[in-house]
Amino acid sequence: MIPPLFALMASLSVISTGFAQDAPAVTTALLKDSPVLLEDDGSRVAILGYHVFHPTQKASQMRIPTAKFREQMKVIKDSNIPVISMTQFLSWRRGEIELPPQSFLITMDDGWKSVYTEAFPIMKEFQFPFTIFLYKNYVGSNRGGRAMSLAMVNEMVESDLCTIGSHSVSHPFPSDVKKAAKLGPEAYDQFLRTEIGESKKFLDETFKINLTTYAYPGGYHTDEMFPLADEYGYDHLFTVKPGKVRRDSPGRTLPRYIVLGNHDGAFNASLIFRNGARVAAAPVALPHPAQPGSGEIVASRLPTIKIDLSAVEDLDPDSVVMRVAGFDKVPVQMNPQTKVFQWTVIRPLRQPMCEVTTQWRLKSKEKYEPVMRWSFRVDHEAAYQAQ
Ligand SMILES: [Zn+2]
Repeated sequence: MIPPLFALMASLSVISTGFAQDAPAVTTALLKDSPVLLEDDGSRVAILGYHVFHPTQKASQMRIPTAKFREQMKVIKDSNIPVISMTQFLSWRRGEIELPPQSFLITMDDGWKSVYTEAFPIMKEFQFPFTIFLYKNYVGSNRGGRAMSLAMVNEMVESDLCTIGSHSVSHPFPSDVKKAAKLGPEAYDQFLRTEIGESKKFLDETFKINLTTYAYPGGYHTDEMFPLADEYGYDHLFTVKPGKVRRDSPGRTLPRYIVLGNHDGAFNASLIFRNGARVAAAPVALPHPAQPGSGEIVASRLPTIKIDLSAVEDLDPDSVVMRVAGFDKVPVQMNPQTKVFQWTVIRPLRQPMCEVTTQWRLKSKEKYEPVMRWSFRVDHEAAYQAQ
């Protein structure tokens, strides 16, 4: 659970600071065991955090209507920005794989039964991976009939879509943590060791895993938690402060967009990536045939782009100029028989959307004809494979 105040702060900071501020560059080593300090590679990951889902009850900060959640997943699907798994996220952070410039990671906190009954079917429908952050005292407790059973968690994990992370033992609220801190360094250390260490031990043993991720309850963290996180083998710890994750973002305080059921601010902010276009443009009707066509989705990141100008009478073939996003003016080749002009992309396309413009002149005219402009999309399955 997140305390309402924290949820509110999360949403307010979205409103007051504008959108999706990227975390500042970091120059010190982040992870004790990190073999190399990885540099920013330009990729950005938006991490979403959810809690409770419900088919009929009114939305609240913690509870999102199932239909609304499905709509949000559809928006992500239609954006052509991939949803990555926690495994891919961690591999990218370790420098083992590359990610496309933009991706989403979806997380769900606490272990509510509605994750299984409401969200899981939608994640299966879209084939979106997700991570659940569980706290020991809730999962399997059937508390109030609203907690997930161990069997439900196991079924989700076996689907290969679901990864488990830790969310403490007792889910202490910030006020509980502060109270424990006042008991003195030793008692506080013991308190934190239990919450951070015991939760990992329990989840690892129960689900036969070796997890390395932790979501701070309520996003609340103190400096005393960091060495313990290292000691117990956590390398990635998540807050509730909105922002995009970079490869060099500090691993102990990773930003997340907590999506509120009754306020769209955080979700909308998560969709805006400063490092590029956020969604593909609508297909347009083209005056001349082109390949890939407007709005077409291609599997290759090295497609051949063609435009058929055989219908242009009096075309000056030497005047044809093609520009491709990321490459500017490209050396287009003409087939003299067919009047098809083409160019093959020479470096893998990194953006999910690629814009092409073409211009030409008629022999009888000085001025160029109106520019022909269209965009095609790169299939995200192909796009997020390591190069
Ligand atoms: Zn929680």
